[in-house]
Amino acid sequence: MAGEPTVLVVEDEPAQREVLAYNIRAEGFNVVTAEAGDEALVVVRETPPDVIILDWMLPHVSGIEVCRQLKTGGDTSRIPIIMLSARSEEVDKVRGLETGADDYVTKPYSVAELLARLRTQLRRTRPAAVGERLEYEDIMLDMAEHRVFRAGESLSLGPTEFRLLTAFMERPGRVWSREQLLDRVWGRDIYVDSRTVDVHVGRLRKALRASGSDDPIRTVRGAGYSLG
Ligand code: CA
Repeated sequence: MAGEPTVLVVEDEPAQREVLAYNIRAEGFNVVTAEAGDEALVVVRETPPDVIILDWMLPHVSGIEVCRQLKTGGDTSRIPIIMLSARSEEVDKVRGLETGADDYVTKPYSVAELLARLRTQLRRTRPAAVGERLEYEDIMLDMAEHRVFRAGESLSLGPTEFRLLTAFMERPGRVWSREQLLDRVWGRDIYVDSRTVDVHVGRLRKALRASGSDDPIRTVRGAGYSLG
C-alpha cells in the first residue's frame, strides 16, 4: 500500500513474528520483517521504516547492538524503536533506554498494548497515518474526513495530490527527492516515470493557489521539492 506507514518487526521467534505482523497489518500499516540483527540493519537501509519493533535477544547481532548502531548517526537515528525484552529487571530497562530506544515493552506483552505504543510512536513520525490533523501555516489537512482547507476554504484535491500533500505536511521543510516521493505516494513496487511526480506537484500547487494564496511548495534545484 502506498502512503501507509511501514513497521519493521525484528523477532527471531517465527510464531511471535507472525502474530505481530498479522496484527499490525490489520491496523492498515505495511509490515516488513527480519529474524536477525544483521538482517534488520540491511532492511532498514533498503526500506527505511517509520517505526521499528526490535526484540532484544536475537541471533548474531543483538537487539541492543542494532539499536545502538541505528541511533548513533545519520538518517536512521530519527526512526523510533520499541524494544521488546523477556527480562523485566529495571536495570535492563535502563540499559535499553540508554541505547536510545524510544520505548520498552516486556514479554509477555498484550498485542493491544503494543499496538497502542506503536501508535504513540507513529504520532511523532507519521501523524497523518494515525488520524491526526496536520497544520502548516494556513493549510489544514484532516485525515479522518479526508479534506484539505486553506485559509478556511475547502480545497478539491485528487487522491494523488492528497497523498503528496500529506507527505509534505508530515515533515515540513524536508526536501523530498522525486524517488522518495514515488516510494511514499505511489508505492515501491509500481513503476512510474519520475516526471509524473512533477505533473502531480504542479496540480497540487494549482489547487493550493486556487484561493489566490501563495505557492507554499519550494522547488529545490537538483534535489526535489519541499513544503516551506
Ligand atoms: Ca528473541
